[in-house]
Amino acid sequence: MILILIQMTAPYGPYIRDKDFFWYVRAKRVRIFFYVKRKGEVYKMEMTGSIKETRAKIKEWRRQGLSVGLVPTMGYLHEGHKSLIVKAVKENDRVVVSDFVNPIQFGANEDLSTYPRDIEADRNLCEAAGADLVFYPAVEEMYQKDFSTFVETERVSAELCGKSRPTHFRGVCTVVLKLFHIVSPDRAYFGQKDAQQLAVIRRMARDLDLDIEIVGCPIIREADGLAKSSRNTYLSEMERKAALILSKAVLAGEKMIADGERDASAVIAHMRSILESEPLAKIDYVELTDADSIEKIQTVKGRVLGAVAVFIGTTRLIDNFIVEA
Ligand code: AMP
Repeated sequence: MILILIQMTAPYGPYIRDKDFFWYVRAKRVRIFFYVKRKGEVYKMEMTGSIKETRAKIKEWRRQGLSVGLVPTMGYLHEGHKSLIVKAVKENDRVVVSDFVNPIQFGANEDLSTYPRDIEADRNLCEAAGADLVFYPAVEEMYQKDFSTFVETERVSAELCGKSRPTHFRGVCTVVLKLFHIVSPDRAYFGQKDAQQLAVIRRMARDLDLDIEIVGCPIIREADGLAKSSRNTYLSEMERKAALILSKAVLAGEKMIADGERDASAVIAHMRSILESEPLAKIDYVELTDADSIEKIQTVKGRVLGAVAVFIGTTRLIDNFIVEA
């Protein structure tokens, strides 16, 4: 037997999706085996703003028996988003990233018109992460003029951001359910950065019997601790320094619990005092809740979420930790 190694290289594309394989030719009683090592299939990411084209692409993948992951985003992508896409690429045959600034999740006096956008940079990040399709619809593609149907959640959306932004989760759940219907993914990826959003989506998926695995992903931070966020770009140099107070407060709360504190009000008071030490910070909320039901707690027990929302100047930032106590 003669073994010859052949390495096949695709013209571009950093991802190996097909398995290596053996191939042989027979000449009389001699077989020559070729070990074909695939360095990568021809990989080309596509972009579309059309629901119809997205559905057609997904149908084609389904016909080939491929699994599909979805990463919903509002664009202006950073390493936090990228971590979700990379995880989705590992766990699914094909990955769709939606890139849509969803108007109905913004309140009347919020930052919809100034929300940062850069579709070219987003395209590059998605391609580098190995996504297969970027769905970036126009507002008119997602919402007809007389759009009239919304998803309402209760309880899990009542506290924290739901209290400060009363129509926010109605907008989030409506767009996410629409995306689920457009893409019909096997798995959908959400960051713990928006811990209440993750809990609300999980509850919606459970309550409405969606056959989609909701995958939570850890918070990605800057080297100095600030949680990465598209909204960090709003911050001036001074505000950027002041914003570090969020991760300081979150770390301190987490440590206090690790050191044995079980009185929720003591942990909240400590986090609050740290936030109040920063003159540029104006607290929206500091709370400890059950991490799944998002109900306030008095005693730290089970899976607990410690969450803060703080205005630094006019920019509202959030951060959190989850502990098992
Ligand atoms: P957004 O574009 O802000 O709506 O975020 C899209 C998804 O990315 C959400 O599931 C977020 O929770 C997630 N995400 C945003 N920032 C981070 C981060 N720093 N670490 C992990 N996930 C994040």
